[in-house]
Amino acid sequence: MSKAKTFRGGIHPAGNKELTSTQAIVAMPAPAEVTVLLKQHAGAPCRPLVKKGDVVNKGQKIGDSDEFISAPVHAPVSGVVKAVQPSRDPAGSIVQAVVIENDGEERLDPSVQPHPDLDQLDAETIKKIVREAGIVGLGGATFPTHVKLSPPPDKKIEVLIINGCECEPYLTCDHRLMVEQPERVVFGTRALMKALGVEKAYIGIENNKPDAIAALEKATADYPGIEVVPLQYKYPQGSEKQLITAITGKEVPFNGLPMDVGVVVNNVETAAAVQAAIQDGMPLIERIVTVSGEGVRHPQNLAVRIGTPISEVIAAAGGFIGTPKQVIIGGPLTGVAQPDLSVPVTKCNTGILVFNELKRPSKPEPCIRCGRCVDACPSFLLPVTLAHLSDIGQYDKALELGLLACVECGSCSYVCPAHRFLLQSILVAKREIEAQRYKKTS
Ligand code: SF4
Ligand code: SF4
Repeated sequence: MSKAKTFRGGIHPAGNKELTSTQAIVAMPAPAEVTVLLKQHAGAPCRPLVKKGDVVNKGQKIGDSDEFISAPVHAPVSGVVKAVQPSRDPAGSIVQAVVIENDGEERLDPSVQPHPDLDQLDAETIKKIVREAGIVGLGGATFPTHVKLSPPPDKKIEVLIINGCECEPYLTCDHRLMVEQPERVVFGTRALMKALGVEKAYIGIENNKPDAIAALEKATADYPGIEVVPLQYKYPQGSEKQLITAITGKEVPFNGLPMDVGVVVNNVETAAAVQAAIQDGMPLIERIVTVSGEGVRHPQNLAVRIGTPISEVIAAAGGFIGTPKQVIIGGPLTGVAQPDLSVPVTKCNTGILVFNELKRPSKPEPCIRCGRCVDACPSFLLPVTLAHLSDIGQYDKALELGLLACVECGSCSYVCPAHRFLLQSILVAKREIEAQRYKKTS
């Protein structure tokens, strides 16, 4: 185990995964009402395909876009459309959403049709199924999967990497999926390999999950093209660029993409979603959510319909113990604190964490120039400088210093003894630049 591969830099936060890592996934009953956001993926928002009063079926497409970088959304329950209205997303933005009153009938849409054997599907058909199922990166990035499967002709893909690291503290949804349903991950991996036309895939798993490594080694025994790779337990091992370096030894260029070194990375739950889309014909209407933290009564992993209010997910895990000081969607390092618990679960919702004490002081101290943020940065950036340039609005200078190479891992904020909001400042600069570019092109 000590020879497991890894990357340079990174941090070792307390994992706190034991709260949920040994408990089986529980299916949460569908709620009385779901709010399906029309933008819960990277790229263009969907336009609604339904209106108030329409009767919809479970699995029916209710939003779509003509843009290539986008992903359709589907009804997670059967019922009646109560409204198409603006709604707040977990990141705090206001987006359009379809609100559906659940009729409890679980009436399947006729479009939900299992597809023939994988052997009978060609690459283009698999990409089409993935696109129509609304599958996006379920590790949190939500980049549409059909786009990753369609690199430009000059980018030859040689290797698929399936990301089973789940390096962020508290989260165990991927871990439980790998232990309980490894054959789904393997089927999805084979389908993704076929779509990309590659002969080799690696499934990278941190070595703090020996049961997941054993389950996938067994499930891949008949597929010599798929290799399970144990990796060191270190944050952010699951970040794409760090994962590629650890497994292949290749370095993704500073402002480049995995495809620049012939690699595509997908998360284990994304692979399982591809299996469901092919073998069950079911689009992405549900995901596994880790509900954990000291402030929740029964920490566990729940299979939750997209659009369920997070307050109901917490209630399904037994509700609060005491008075919560902070509820975070996602992991503690990269997640977003929620002032409003009515926001719905989205495709990127890996976790809901409840804390009765703030994990970090809310007031930063002045920088003491200790350099710890620089040592921790896995992208070899100067976080303190980037954050300062963002704070004073000098985004162009931050760009020159490699701002876009930041993988948004939060390691710099975590190690900072002055508790400076480094990641938050860097994110402001990244979002500002993205908004400026969008304005110029639209
Ligand atoms: S600058 Fe970005 S990549 Fe570097 S440690 Fe901070 S959040 Fe992570
Ligand atoms: S870790 Fe914090 S205190 Fe140390 S140099 Fe970076 S920003 Fe300054």
